[in-house]
Amino acid sequence: MPRRALLLVLLACLFGACPASRPRHPNLLFVAIDTLRADRLGCQGNPRGLTPNIDALAAGGLRFAQARAHAPWTLPSFGTIFSGELPPEHGAGGVADHYFALRSEVRTWPECFRDAGYATAAIVNVDFLSSAFGVTQGFDALDARFSEDNARGRDARATTDAALARLEARGSAPFALFVHYFDAHAEYRPPQPFRRRFADPRDTDSEAFRFGTREQISAWRSAGTPPDRDGVERAEKLYDGEVAYVDAEIGRLLEGLRAAGLERDTLVVLTADHGEEFLDHGGIEHGHTLHEELLHVPLVLSWPGVLAARVETRPVGLVGLARSLCRLCEVEPAAGFSKAELLAEPGPRELLEEGFSFGNFWGLPWTALREDGWCWISIPRKGAPERVELYDLRSDPLEQQDLAAQRPEQAARMAARVEELRTRAREENWRMGPPAQLGEEALQRIRDTGYGGESREVQPK
Ligand SMILES: [Zn+2]
Repeated sequence: MPRRALLLVLLACLFGACPASRPRHPNLLFVAIDTLRADRLGCQGNPRGLTPNIDALAAGGLRFAQARAHAPWTLPSFGTIFSGELPPEHGAGGVADHYFALRSEVRTWPECFRDAGYATAAIVNVDFLSSAFGVTQGFDALDARFSEDNARGRDARATTDAALARLEARGSAPFALFVHYFDAHAEYRPPQPFRRRFADPRDTDSEAFRFGTREQISAWRSAGTPPDRDGVERAEKLYDGEVAYVDAEIGRLLEGLRAAGLERDTLVVLTADHGEEFLDHGGIEHGHTLHEELLHVPLVLSWPGVLAARVETRPVGLVGLARSLCRLCEVEPAAGFSKAELLAEPGPRELLEEGFSFGNFWGLPWTALREDGWCWISIPRKGAPERVELYDLRSDPLEQQDLAAQRPEQAARMAARVEELRTRAREENWRMGPPAQLGEEALQRIRDTGYGGESREVQPK
């Protein structure tokens, strides 16, 4: 092959379009680990050795070091992951006990994949991914297991077993399989040997200490005070154990993919819907702020032989996943998908969408924008003007030093950028979807998982 032609093929491979070796419609294995902070991954700098399997996947693939979710809790975040639209645009979300489903006209990438001939299937473990909310529409086979208590739900081992059975039973059509792990969500109860390896010495052989039960979360919320620091540190170690457990099961899933000879014909995507707080800003759990610990999530794409192994440090938003997956798999995207793409340089409009986040499970919605190394957050208050916070992400990546008072011109610039999006929302009539049709049983299960009860506004420090 002439050198120039070879170079073109290599370049094409690097950018995900290798005509000689890639199947036109590769399989897609999309793994989401609910509630996984990006900083738990070894490849993101965590020193505890929690995620050797995810780290290996990332080492051979394309890792986005600065990927962010657009909402701090499950329903609106997965709404964006699947629809390629921002939370106030796709309409799925709400607050405790008042839920809205995806707007009826919104299309998801699983629908696009199904229409392109893919066999679509999902294995999910939380009610917010049930058909009542619409965000998983397009998965022909929805294997859903919901339980009233995270510790009694389908765990990572059983989830991997279900995914491997699905791989085993695949037909001749390419598949798009979504696998959702719920173990890192409260309450944290890692099995052995992960409990022994990562828990506080008081908890390595005992399950007496519990953190994140429905009763505990309700009590903390209604009192407006978080639990004591010692308890949170202890809980965080159990969380680490859960992360390590899920990682081991992801290792088993990827090994199954290799053993089936599917590795080179499959695009693997791994991400999370949001993170978790351990007093980073004075609170716990998730849903209640738009700070880094809740929005910075892992994002890895792996397709051996097609996607070159590298680390992308440009900040990206999960809103860009939908169009990117369609491009990589040569599937026609839906018209409503954001134009943002993980592998393309964003224009001003895409930058705005990638950096935008919205929501608050427990009250009035917060709005945030991360752009040009700055984070601007607007916090509404009942009967008072909004409170604005501003952080310089280059010198203060953990958002500890509020500069809104010192840098009012920067805060005003970012407020004007968000106003552009608000104007568009009015022009395009963004609104919530229809109220989710939930039976009392499902609603009670959701409350029991920790999503419910009265809340006093917890003001972070
Ligand atoms: Zn979640």
